Amino acid sequence: MNILIVDCLAREKGERKSSLDVIGVGPRAIAGVLEAMREEPSIKVFEEIREDPWKISQYDALMISAMSSDHICAFRTLRYWQRYGGGPVIIGGPIGEEYERLLARGFDLVVVGEGERPVEVLVEKALDRDGIVFDELRGEPGFAYRLQDRVVFNGRSPWHTRRMLDSYQHSVERITDYPLYWGARVYVEVVRGCSNFYRPRIRLADGRKCIDCDLCRSGSLRQRLGCPLDIPPGCGYCSVPGLYGPPRSKSIDRIYWEVKELIDKGVTRIVLSAPDFLDYGRDWLVEPEPLTDPRNPPPNIEALKRLLETLWRIPEIAGGEVAVMVENIKANLVSEEIARLLAEYLRGTPVHIGCETGSREHAILLGRPVYPEECIKATRILASYGLRPYLYFIHGLPGQTLETAEETVRVMEEVFRVGAEKVTVYRFRPLPGTAFEGFPPGKPGVKDRASRLIYEKGVELNRRYKEQLVGKTLKAIIVGERKRGEGVAYPFYHGPVVVVENASRYYGFLVEVEVTRVLSERLVGGKIKRVLRRVKPF
Ligand code: SF4
Repeated sequence: MNILIVDCLAREKGERKSSLDVIGVGPRAIAGVLEAMREEPSIKVFEEIREDPWKISQYDALMISAMSSDHICAFRTLRYWQRYGGGPVIIGGPIGEEYERLLARGFDLVVVGEGERPVEVLVEKALDRDGIVFDELRGEPGFAYRLQDRVVFNGRSPWHTRRMLDSYQHSVERITDYPLYWGARVYVEVVRGCSNFYRPRIRLADGRKCIDCDLCRSGSLRQRLGCPLDIPPGCGYCSVPGLYGPPRSKSIDRIYWEVKELIDKGVTRIVLSAPDFLDYGRDWLVEPEPLTDPRNPPPNIEALKRLLETLWRIPEIAGGEVAVMVENIKANLVSEEIARLLAEYLRGTPVHIGCETGSREHAILLGRPVYPEECIKATRILASYGLRPYLYFIHGLPGQTLETAEETVRVMEEVFRVGAEKVTVYRFRPLPGTAFEGFPPGKPGVKDRASRLIYEKGVELNRRYKEQLVGKTLKAIIVGERKRGEGVAYPFYHGPVVVVENASRYYGFLVEVEVTRVLSERLVGGKIKRVLRRVKPF
């Protein structure tokens, strides 16, 4: 069957506002399952379908990969399919938690939870050109569908074991379906799941309130999976531990193979993706118990070292022709030893740290595993070893007060002072399946004084960060064109999008750019100093 996977990830209403250069993990993971079953998947980004919806008509079935915030993009894709396509339409990813709403809008089937095994079952038993044989999915976990006007939900797909995850190879063939795969940050999953099984202590929107049994903080690793009140695990605003479970690290061989193949296909920028890169191999230290403690044991330095060492045997990485970066890390796991190891391989690349609030008490109420002072300390250590910490904060969270906001502003300033390169502020949005799902979204800065303090500090620091870039030289890949021959460039080692004077003729080239001015909150301007080499395959 010709199956089309449409990537709606982080596209919200249909267009990305940030992280423009990211190619996420989900669509390639599902394409890999389909390829292994001798199907012929293709991936298209939503923008491609929007430009020419007729393209959708060539396919027998449609699968959509989306996050909770992408429902408008997903509904638009569904409308194109209903108008120009035909055949079964399936949706999955974090958006699957809202299966009732999705089924009501016309999706045939929703995959809820981790997708690999359910997609395998679907193709094996129930999917053909004429539709889905729902009888075959009876009792199979991970699916929601309608049967005679009734919604059937078979429960979330159980968390896949580490060995199962390792047995599913993400597609490397389909990377070339992405228009800018040669210039984008391609995410390669190294760890799935999060080790934070603490729960929020704040009273939830439905009235539940932690009874301080302390099971999720001092119970055995297995006991921490549950809570007598059924409060979902993790920070109250985050869906990762509930949806994807505790961390499971992929084997070094699997990661090496995928990275190597992607490079052979022409990928030049790779992000080792994990809710916490420092959880890599930490799960192996406690097996067969689940890693549900975000603080103990400390990082598996041996495993991290072996992974990085192995990847650096790939000549393109060792020679600097391919940029490798890591995604997030938890500040509490950072030490001098860790920073030294990361710097050996990743000096000059960003590391992302969630701080979210500057108040220790607020952090505990939210279920955070990390305290603000640890974020400051980790920032100082990482920056002193030549890494580039990017810190994240959220305004409008439940429990936010003027005092917590003032503390947050102080911590934002402090992390910036001790070496954070960038501070990013998000507004709280309740996600389905999380402890905070019943709370209202955070008010915008204009409507709430506490939120305004955090928001405005974020804008100020972001501006300062961009101003500090002026006069600096960075490597960037020209990936597009604007007016008057200007080129649009992605910094090789990540950073703001650069609009480069007279550079459109260097489309597909890696260049050295001098940053000359700040253009907006998201853009800086620059001029070419040197053309380095072509990276776009012929
Ligand atoms: S959140 Fe649940 S498990 Fe954790 S301390 Fe409170 S009641 Fe106990």
